Amino acid sequence: LYYQPRVAAATGRITGVEALLRWEHPEWGLVEPARFIPALEETGLIVQVGAWVLAEACRQTMAWENAGLAPLHVSVNLSSRQFRSDTLASAVSSSLQASGLPAARLEVELTESLLMDNTDQAMEVMGRLKAIGVAISIDDFGTGYSSLGYLKRFPIDSLKVDRSFVRDLSTSRKDAAIIEAICALAKSLGIGLVAEGVEEQYQAEFLRARYCTELQGYLFGRPVPPEELGRLLQRAAPP
Ligand code: C2E
Ligand code: MG
Ligand code: MG
Repeated sequence: LYYQPRVAAATGRITGVEALLRWEHPEWGLVEPARFIPALEETGLIVQVGAWVLAEACRQTMAWENAGLAPLHVSVNLSSRQFRSDTLASAVSSSLQASGLPAARLEVELTESLLMDNTDQAMEVMGRLKAIGVAISIDDFGTGYSSLGYLKRFPIDSLKVDRSFVRDLSTSRKDAAIIEAICALAKSLGIGLVAEGVEEQYQAEFLRARYCTELQGYLFGRPVPPEELGRLLQRAAPP
């Protein structure tokens, strides 16, 4: 499990991390999730692997804190099959219990398409997650079905603007317009807004000047193994 830092837009301080899965293959080397998550999803193995991701991400986050680093939030991506599995709520609770991480510091990232499949069931699962106390975020916002109706029906704490809108921000007026609209939407709904894929200073400035509360991207740090993120946190900590 790799971790990518997420920083507060206002201060640049690391406030959290996103846990991102990697597969260390003996011959192929490090395999990206896009190449194996679909297979995990198809076979149903994602439920077990996802439960491990939840437990490990919570454990690692508390391990940093117990080593004297500032408390962090941690985000975990959920896939469709995992979201609909009966064991999700118990996997979340037991990960929190075993690690001692306060529920409010765990965030699950869902995608728009995942919510649209069976909205009654999605509502029930989200209710269960909210009852445990974890935060819910919509990943890749703007690239799924984009039915805005779910924003009023579901208990969503924050949106993550998709990387594709951030990428050409300095040259595309359309992307800038879309981002401004998403910022206005999140602001009036009173929910958080995170931008992903921030690689350039210009993008960071643009997003900071609007409503983005947090930024994530190579400009602030790539996904790295936990030891490396630990060193980064140590360097970022005040002496
Ligand atoms: P995501 O959740 O949208 O994660 C963000 C992806 O953007 C990550 O790719 C990250 O490495 C990449 N990224 C971050 N900042 C930048 C940047 O500045 N520039 C560029 N070009 N890319 C950036 P990654 O790690 O390959 O993950 C791809 C997707 O795989 C994730 O997209 C997520 O949907 C899925 N995934 C990863 N880990 C898990 C997991 O544990 N469970 C599930 N269900 N899905 C996962
Ligand atoms: Mg994500
Ligand atoms: Mg994303």
